Amino acid sequence: MQQILHNIKSFFSSFPLNKEFLYIENYIRLEDGIIDPIDFCKLSFDYYCVEEDSIKTFELDLPEYSKNHFGNYAEQSIPEEIIDENGILNYNLHLYGICKSCKKKQAEFLISVRSDKKFPTDRQRLYKVIDEETSVPIDVFENKQINVYLTKIAVFPEPKIKIEKYIQKYFDRETNNWYYKGIKSYNEGFGIGSYAYFRRIIEKELIKIFQEISLLPDADSKLNKLISEYKEKNQISTLYNDSFHLLPKSLQLLGENPLKLLYSLTSQGLHNLTEENCLENSDKIHKILDFVIKKIYEEKSELSSIREIIKSIKK
Ligand SMILES: [Zn+2]
Repeated sequence: MQQILHNIKSFFSSFPLNKEFLYIENYIRLEDGIIDPIDFCKLSFDYYCVEEDSIKTFELDLPEYSKNHFGNYAEQSIPEEIIDENGILNYNLHLYGICKSCKKKQAEFLISVRSDKKFPTDRQRLYKVIDEETSVPIDVFENKQINVYLTKIAVFPEPKIKIEKYIQKYFDRETNNWYYKGIKSYNEGFGIGSYAYFRRIIEKELIKIFQEISLLPDADSKLNKLISEYKEKNQISTLYNDSFHLLPKSLQLLGENPLKLLYSLTSQGLHNLTEENCLENSDKIHKILDFVIKKIYEEKSELSSIREIIKSIKK
C-alpha cells in the first residue's frame, strides 16, 4: 500500500467545477504534509494569462491573512480547524494564481479539501506497519486507507475559453457556437449539457470530416469509395471498421481509428449516463476531435507550403 500523489496541475488548469478530483490515494502523513493550506503555495500549473494573451506557467499563493495564520504551525502538526467535528479532513481554501512571467495576480480559486475517512491529526496515533511489497515501515491510521479529494467550488474570473484558430476556421458559425458552449458547460461541471453539445457536433460533422480526409493527398483513394458505399447502403459500421488503414498516416498515430472512437463515444443513449460519465465523454470527444482537426489542418497547410515551394522553383 503506497501513497499515490496525483498530478495537481490538471486540476487547476482545466478540471471542471464541482467534480471531485482524487488528489491523494492511501494518504500517509509525512514530514512535508501535503494537505495543509500552506502546502498549496508555490505549486505550479498552466493557465491563460490575460495580460499576455497566452498560456503561461502560474504559481499558487495564499492570501496574506491565511499565509500568516497557517504559516505559524509547526511542521508536523495539523491545524485543528481543517478537521471537522467528525474527524474528517474538511476545509475550504482560497488561493491565488500568479503568472510567473508577468508576475500579475489574476486567478482566484475557492477549493474544498476533503478526506473520505477519519483523518490522523497526531503522529502518535499512527500505527507502524510493514509494507509487504517493500518491507518498509509505514504509517497507517486505524488501519484504513485514506483518500483525499479536491473540488473546485469557484474560479474568478471565469476562465477564458480559448479555441484554436484551426478549429474556428474549420467549422461553421453554428458548430463553433456549440463547440464553445460544450467547453463552457464542461468547465462549469454541467456534464449532460456539455455532452449534448459535443454529440450534436459529431452528428453534424463526422461524415463531412471523413470526406475532408478522403481528399487529403496522403489518404487512400479507396476511402472515397467506402464513403460512397456508406451513402448508398447507410451501413455506418462498415465505414468505421474498414477505414483505419485508408487514413493518412498522421491519423493512424493513435493505433485506433479516431473517427470510430468519436462515433462510439456519441452512440450511447444519454439516459444511461450520469453527470460524471457525461463529463468524461465530453472531455474525450473534445480532445480526439481537436486531434483530428489539427491533423487535417497540418496535412493541408504542409501540402500548400510545398506547392508554394514548387511554384517558386518553376519560375
Ligand atoms: Zn502573465
